[in-house]
Amino acid sequence: MTQCVLHGSFAFGGSKAKSNDMVTRELLAPRSVQVGTLKAAVFDVDGVLLASPHERAWREALRGFGESERFTTAIYQADVAGKPRLSGARAALEAVGAPDAARLAAAYAARKQKRLEELIAEGAVKAFPDALRFVQALADLGWPMAVASSSKNANEMMRSIRLGSGQSLLDIFGANVCGRDLPRGKPDPAIFLLAASELHVDPSHCFVAEDAPAGIEAACAARMEGLGVARKNDAAGLRTAGAEIVVTSLDDIAVDELAEGRLRRRPA
Ligand SMILES: [Mg+2]
Repeated sequence: MTQCVLHGSFAFGGSKAKSNDMVTRELLAPRSVQVGTLKAAVFDVDGVLLASPHERAWREALRGFGESERFTTAIYQADVAGKPRLSGARAALEAVGAPDAARLAAAYAARKQKRLEELIAEGAVKAFPDALRFVQALADLGWPMAVASSSKNANEMMRSIRLGSGQSLLDIFGANVCGRDLPRGKPDPAIFLLAASELHVDPSHCFVAEDAPAGIEAACAARMEGLGVARKNDAAGLRTAGAEIVVTSLDDIAVDELAEGRLRRRPA
C-alpha cells in the first residue's frame, strides 16, 4: 500500500510569516504534494457523484453463483468497488466463498452487467446533491475537472443527470477517462495519471475524490491528494489507505480554501 505522509502537520494555513525552522521542515517534508498548490480535481463516479446501483447489481446477480446474503456492503467496498468488472467479479465470488471463482467470474460479471443495465433503465441512478453543489462550486472557480471511473457505465449514468444550468453532469468535466481500457485498475494509479494528463495539469496539483480505499491508494500512488468520501460509515478504511481528509459530505470541504489551493475541512 502506498501512503501519503505528513497529513496536516505541515499545514501553514494563510500565515505569511514563517520561521526558518518551519521553512526548513517544509522543504524537507517527504510529502508528495505541496500545501497550497492544488488547482485541479479528479472525481470517482460511483459513491462520490452518483448513488449508482453497482452494489445492488453485484448482489442480485450472485444468485446461483453463491450466497448473495454474504455479499455485504463492507465486502463490496473492500474487495469490489473501483475494480475492473472481471477482477471485481472474481473478488466478490471469492469473498462469499463460491467454489471455482476464477472460472465463473466472466459469467457472473456478464449477469451483473445485465442486471445493472436493467436498473439504470428503471431510473435507479441518483446523484448526491452535495456532490452536484461541490462540482458546480469548483466549476465556478474555473478549476479543470476530470471524471475517472473504471466503470464502462459511468458515462451513460452521468449523461442522465441534469444540472441547474441545463447541461448534463458529464458535460461539466473537461476530461473524461471513464471506462478506458487500461492494463490495471485501481489501486494502480494509471487512470488518475491519465486524467491529469488530459487536464494538462501535473498530478501533484490535483486532488482525487474517492469513496473506495483502492481509489485512495491509487491517488497516493499518483502523487495526488486523496479526499475520502465516506458515505457508508467507512471512514477508517479511507484513512488507512492514505486519505488526506475524510468527509461524509462534500459540503464539509471549504471551497474558499480550495480557491487558495488547499484541501481543508470547512470550519464547524
Ligand atoms: Mg467509487
